[in-house]
Parts: sequence; C-alpha cells; structure tokens
Amino acid sequence: MRSPQLKSNQVIIITGASRGIGEATALLAATRGYSVCVNYRYHAEAAERLVAEIAEAGGKAVAVAADTSVEADVLRMFKTVDETLGPLSALVNNAGILRPQMRLSEMSLQRISEVMAVNVIGCFLCAREAVKRMSTSSGGKGGAIVNVSSGASRLGAPGEYVDYAASKGALDTFTVGLAKEVAEEGIRVNAVRPGFIYTDIHASGGEPERVDRVKAFVPMKRGGQPGEVAHAIMWLLSDEASFTTGAFIDITGGK
Ligand code: NAP
Repeated sequence: MRSPQLKSNQVIIITGASRGIGEATALLAATRGYSVCVNYRYHAEAAERLVAEIAEAGGKAVAVAADTSVEADVLRMFKTVDETLGPLSALVNNAGILRPQMRLSEMSLQRISEVMAVNVIGCFLCAREAVKRMSTSSGGKGGAIVNVSSGASRLGAPGEYVDYAASKGALDTFTVGLAKEVAEEGIRVNAVRPGFIYTDIHASGGEPERVDRVKAFVPMKRGGQPGEVAHAIMWLLSDEASFTTGAFIDITGGK
C-alpha cells in the first residue's frame, strides 16, 4: 500500500541542503516522493553527490547554487525550480550560519551583518518567492513552509553567539507573523527549533566537538542526529499537520 505521506508531483526547495540537517531533509523528502531542489552555497560536489544518490534511488532532484542572502541568486533559484521541477509546494528555510564564539563587545559589524543577512533576510527572500507561487490568492495551489530556527532563540547563547541566537529569534517572530498573514491563502508556516545536533556548523563556530562538550546539560544526555530534525520538518510539511500553522517543534532532547 502507498504510504499516506507519499507525495507525487510535489516540489520542494530546501536551502542549505548540501550538508547536515538540510541534506537529511532532502533525502527524506525524496523518499516521500517530493522532487527536491538541493540548494547550497559553496559545496557543489556534496550537493551533486546527494542529487545522484536521490536519482539512484528513483527520485528526482536538482542542485542549485545560490546564496540565499543575495536577492538575484534567490530569484534565479526559484526560476530554475519553476522551469525544471514545476510548481512549488514546499519550502524549508534551512540555510544558516554561525561565526566563532565571542562576546558581543568583540563582534564586528561585518560578522553581525552576515549572520543577519543569511539567517534572517535570506529566509524572508525565499519565503516571499514561495508565497508568490503558492498563494491561492495569486492562482497557486497552497503549500507549506518550515523555518529552521534554533533552541538558541529561547536561550540567547550568551558569550558564544548572541547574534546567531537573535537572528533565530527574528525567524521565530517571522514564522508567527507570516503564518497568520497567509493562513487564508492555503499556506501553512511553521518552525523547528533544533538543539545540539551533530553537524559541521559547530566547526564554523570554532568548536567542532561542541555537541559532545554540552550534551551533559541536555536532559536526554545526548546530542541529536540530523535525521531526527528532518522527521519533524517533514511532519510539519505533511497533510498530517493540516491544521498546524504558526507552531514550533523543539527538537532539543528536553533542553
Ligand atoms: P551545516 O552543517 O553547517 O550546513 C549548512 C548548510 O547551509 C550547507 O548546506 C551550506 O552550504 C548552506 N549555506 C550556508 N550559507 C548559505 C547561504 N548563504 N546560501 C545558501 N546556502 C547556505 O548546518 P546545519 O547544522 O545542518 O544547520 C542547518 C540549520 O539548522 C541552520 O539554520 C542552523 O542554524 C540550524 N540549527 C542547527 C543546529 C545544530 O546543532 N546543528 C542547532 C539549531 C539550529 P555549503 O555546503 O555550500 O556551504
């Protein structure tokens, strides 16, 4: 019997899908029948490898290089998806960055601006383009958006990266507001807030082994795997979450 979650002719864009949580989500989306846009910024080889893996398993995917904080890149990515995969039904705003741990007093304007540009403005731009295509008020068939926030939005990340935590706080508020704005237009907007997940992002924060250092503070006493986040994202996108919008799932092991 076909899985009730299996989607045919559904198209999804997952930003930052060459690695980590985005990669796991892309793989899961493909197994659920979505045609997947694997967005990335630098790691073309990883993105192409993932596309090949999805194709070998009988799925459909395309890799698109685009810096989500650059409007022209975002417009090009959505146009490519329109032309190669078809009408968009889902967006996962997953691309996100963090910079080396430091106090606010040491942070440069450039660093703060980059974090905000990717983690906030990039999500706004992608959501804007998705809503234009999905909204029933402009001839679309509706759809679903999931923003990948962070448990840091609740905790604040003092002494490490308050810029990153605040960017995720902005994403949380954006999730609430956009969900209400487009609720009558067939679009659901939700967010996940992962905790400490084993991915490369901690190396860019200057501490590759961070999850193992902090896992003792997690009630479940372990870090999470990207796939554990991907399952929550895919549930929020699925018809099983049909009455869920403006909602948050914390995937933090209880922290
Ligand atoms: P990751 O392993 O560092 O992967 C980041 C991904 O984002 C890569 O695919 C990267 O592409 C892409 N990317 C970065 N900047 C981009 C840009 N400007 N435009 C397009 N793509 C861009 O990160 P992750 O840990 O999987 O994190 C994914 C999301 O989860 C982020 O939003 C992060 O804040 C959030 N999160 C993670 C954790 C955690 O513990 N891992 C916890 C809470 C929240 P390239 O490969 O080409 O560089």
